[in-house]
Amino acid sequence: RFRLTVSYVLFFSVLLVGIGMLFRQTLRSQLDGEVRATLEEEWGAAKAYLRIENKRPIWVADSSDPEEAYIVERLRRVYLLTDSTGYLLEYSETYASLGLDSPQEIQRIVKSGKPEFRERNDKAGIPFLIKAGELPSKEGERYFLALGRSLEANQRTVDAFMRRYLLLLPGLIALMCLLGWLLAGRAVHPVNQVAQAAEGVTGSNLSLRIPKRGADDELDHLIDSFNQMTARLGQSFEQIRRFSTDVSHELRTPLTAIRGQLEVALFTAQTTEQFREAMVNALEDVERLSSIVRALLLLSQAESGQLVLQKAALDLGAIAEDVVDQFQIPAEEKGVELSVHVQAGTIAFADKTQVERLISNLVSNAVKYTPRGGRIQVSVMTDPTHQDWARLEVADTGVGIPAENLSQIFDRFYRVRNAETNLIQGLGLGLSFVAWIVSAHGGSINVESEPGEGSRFIVHLPSAPPTSVTPSPEPAAAAV
Ligand code: ADP
Repeated sequence: RFRLTVSYVLFFSVLLVGIGMLFRQTLRSQLDGEVRATLEEEWGAAKAYLRIENKRPIWVADSSDPEEAYIVERLRRVYLLTDSTGYLLEYSETYASLGLDSPQEIQRIVKSGKPEFRERNDKAGIPFLIKAGELPSKEGERYFLALGRSLEANQRTVDAFMRRYLLLLPGLIALMCLLGWLLAGRAVHPVNQVAQAAEGVTGSNLSLRIPKRGADDELDHLIDSFNQMTARLGQSFEQIRRFSTDVSHELRTPLTAIRGQLEVALFTAQTTEQFREAMVNALEDVERLSSIVRALLLLSQAESGQLVLQKAALDLGAIAEDVVDQFQIPAEEKGVELSVHVQAGTIAFADKTQVERLISNLVSNAVKYTPRGGRIQVSVMTDPTHQDWARLEVADTGVGIPAENLSQIFDRFYRVRNAETNLIQGLGLGLSFVAWIVSAHGGSINVESEPGEGSRFIVHLPSAPPTSVTPSPEPAAAAV
């Protein structure tokens, strides 16, 4: 506010001073113009009343006419008459105090034949306007005549104007300061309001939205962006909050089981066999615990760039067959048919461990989200239209994903929450890891899904090092 006021006051002060100077200049030239016009008239009168005979000036005024006498007396107040060489014929005291013209100057003006106006100050500093020029006589001789008029009255008027203006100026500037302060206050008031509203937004209050003013101006734009930002922050907060709940839930289940097994081993196991069984069960749960912790650690390493990929040309079909083999037992247990179709010689230029993880995450999801009696088909082939891309498809006849959730399933910790998926356990990390692996290989992933019908995940991976590969046939990595 202070800075706005200062700029406003500075701007208007400069403007006021400028306007003052302009007025002064205009007033001065207006008044001087009037004097000039009078001087022109007097010049005409001088020509009529002045006769020069044998280098002697004779003023032919009717001395009985007071008006004429006065005119002649006026003409002779500031006056100089010389011959064409500059020889002085007659001059007034006042003119002498302005400084007599040099003979060269006089000769130049007489020769040019054009009268000239000039301004000169007398010893007291009073300015005079002088008209000087050639005056021809009846005898054919040429003379030099200069007539002057004081500009003192003009200067006094202009000075009086400036004095009043300057006296008024501080008052005007003070008024401007006040006005500027009020105006700047009005300008920053809405910004302050927004800032106050923004201060109310905290981690636990991210649903708060700043009300728009309805002016559809820059500030409303800012409020919009701010509200969108809080909405995004709210989503992230919500995801993290849900994630903490999920993690604790995921960790609590095996922990409770381990505790139960240990208690059995300590207090109720009678035989070595019973003791052994309790230990084996506890170990399985410990294994589950460590796999959760491993997944979290891996994802954070991947996202912070600590995982280095060892890329090589891989037989993608063979890897897919291996992974599918590992999932045959869980699929059978669940009553889901799992099959794989491979086009021989499909190569992917990729990191083996990560590609295994990618396929295993997709197949594991397919098994998880496909109810009894369903089918899962994994296919591997070279992309028919883009020969230097390998295509991997995991299609199931499972619960499917609602269209409104499709764009988020690759987000960290995101899980679809509905009647079908609520009972299925998971951390919402599997697909974010898949997305990271695809993007780290410069590939792409797409998903087509119909709730109740099934889903199809389509992954494209390059089959040669990046330099020789044409751009991805699908949108950028992890695009849906
Ligand atoms: P989760 O541990 O929950 O499986 P993911 O990141 O692997 O986490 O998947 C995110 C969400 O995407 C899942 O919660 C699920 O709702 C949905 N999803 C993933 N794969 C499938 C699929 N094959 N069929 C139906 N929904 C799926």
